[in-house]
Amino acid sequence: MSVKCLRISVTDRCNLRCVYCRPLHDCAFIKDKEILSLDEIHRVVRLFADCGIDRVRLTGGEPLLRKNVTSLVEKLAATKGIRELTLTTNGVLLKQMADELKAAGLNRVNISIDSLEANSYRQITGYDCLSNVVGGIQKAIDVGLQPVKINAVILRGINHSQVVSLARMSIDLPVTVRFIEYCPTNKDTQPAEDYMPYGEIRRIIEGEFGALFDATIGHGNGPALYFKIKNSAGAIGFIAGRSTIFCETCNRIRLSCDGKIKPCLYSAQDYDIRQLIREGTSDEQIKSHMIKIIAQKHTFTRLNSSAKEFSMRKVGG
Ligand code: SAM
Repeated sequence: MSVKCLRISVTDRCNLRCVYCRPLHDCAFIKDKEILSLDEIHRVVRLFADCGIDRVRLTGGEPLLRKNVTSLVEKLAATKGIRELTLTTNGVLLKQMADELKAAGLNRVNISIDSLEANSYRQITGYDCLSNVVGGIQKAIDVGLQPVKINAVILRGINHSQVVSLARMSIDLPVTVRFIEYCPTNKDTQPAEDYMPYGEIRRIIEGEFGALFDATIGHGNGPALYFKIKNSAGAIGFIAGRSTIFCETCNRIRLSCDGKIKPCLYSAQDYDIRQLIREGTSDEQIKSHMIKIIAQKHTFTRLNSSAKEFSMRKVGG
């Protein structure tokens, strides 16, 4: 599988404190001067595009918190070779920013929402902003940031009772609701036992709505498996990153907010592109590094990884 997608964490800051991502005492942020500037991110994307990357996803942390993110979107959308620019957001600020992001050239959004019930939403994220997120989803549909994908991480005993309501969104709205298996990233986040495998989530959905049937989704081509509930406007997806191994079909690499390229979420190895940029390395030299990194992407798999812990908001989920 050739590497086509670059996922960029544009900030490690977030306005939510999801229990599985950023526990309460996790307050240390990377210093501003260590974060890639917007011009540096643009340069990395331009050079990666010359190496065959044609899709970029902005994430974080919360990407909509990054100052002037709309101007970054405008630059990246206009970069030669980039044919799709997307963004993953918690949706809290989306309602007020969707118009400008669309006008700047953003193609579509993934919106994270782990519960449709106010109390459990607060329990997971630490904040009372469910209505902002629901408003953000509708706005994204209205302005055409489509197809909208919804991301939900399901944790046993925390929000597994939300599976049916979340799945029902795909009946009523033209959205793809994707259930993501929880991946324990470090010792301070949710216990690994709270993980619910894809098969169990699927059984809950099929118990309520009947058998799911296969669906092909025109966008993304990532590791998600897609299905439909009968007569639904949207679709259901599963990202089974723990109960299955999809390394062979993974076509993405990552750029952390402090300028490290990671060939795989789980790889202990990263490559400091920020240092090369700030030392004045030429475009041609940086591209030859990029080509080598891309070439060895598939030597990493989740099973041979030696990475112990990592921060999702820094690497970019
Ligand atoms: N703030 C944005 C958001 O909430 O979508 C973008 C960053 S967030 C890290 C991106 C995605 O990663 C979200 O859908 C989130 O639920 C997911 N995520 C974070 N930590 C995770 C974990 N430990 N296991 C599985 N998914 C995780």
